Amino acid sequence: MLSPPDLETIDRVVEHLGRARSILFVTGAGMSADSGLPTYRGVGGLYDGGETEEGFAIEELLSGEMFRQRPAWTWKYLRQIEQACRGAKFNRGHAVIAEMEQHFPRVWTLTQNVDGFHRDAGSRNVIAIHGELHQILCTRCSHRETVRDYAHLSDLPCCASCSAVLRPDVVLFGEMLPEAGVSKLRYQVREGFDLVFSIGTTSLFPYITFPVEVARERDKPTVEINPGTTPVSRMVRYRLPLGAAEALDAIWKRYKEKQKA
Ligand SMILES: [Zn+2]
Repeated sequence: MLSPPDLETIDRVVEHLGRARSILFVTGAGMSADSGLPTYRGVGGLYDGGETEEGFAIEELLSGEMFRQRPAWTWKYLRQIEQACRGAKFNRGHAVIAEMEQHFPRVWTLTQNVDGFHRDAGSRNVIAIHGELHQILCTRCSHRETVRDYAHLSDLPCCASCSAVLRPDVVLFGEMLPEAGVSKLRYQVREGFDLVFSIGTTSLFPYITFPVEVARERDKPTVEINPGTTPVSRMVRYRLPLGAAEALDAIWKRYKEKQKA
């Protein structure tokens, strides 16, 4: 059940939606928590720190450096992350964002998640800043493929055309963010948004907090949806201490009720 203060916040957010022509959603691991995915930290928020059999921290095993030296080790953990996503699918929160993209003139989603759920749900304007697990590419030639899961991949998958090692198109620890994604994000944030949502992200990275900062500087409304508090909590105008699917569903239902009235 939504509490009276949450309902009041939702009404305020819905008023802004009524006037909005452009919306940015910034999403993190909490967005996919309702799909059953773990929210701990790692590549796209999918891995906890701690010991491994190899005696390295998980951040080292999932680093670009390790991938160059021992790609089979990195693949082993990438496979575990993929396994955590397998069988899971997008939830009501992703679906609401995709519906809003259809409804409003300009909607973009910036996600830290590598699960591809925003696209699966039907969102098209997605900047997956950490890449997507199901996009596989060759480390030498231009070969690229989209896989449904890693079930058919060998322990060290190699390219069918040039036999070099394959890798998922995700940003490993210590690697640069994809330039295309970064420039797209900069461009869209400069264009500006009438409303910015930060959803289920711990906001540890500057590129995740900066759209909220820019919105605040321009006096645009900002909303955080997160059961816990984060570094952006004190920057945003509205806060909903709720799960992503519950909050987005409630906002969207209320918005549609108001449209009818
Ligand atoms: Zn190749």
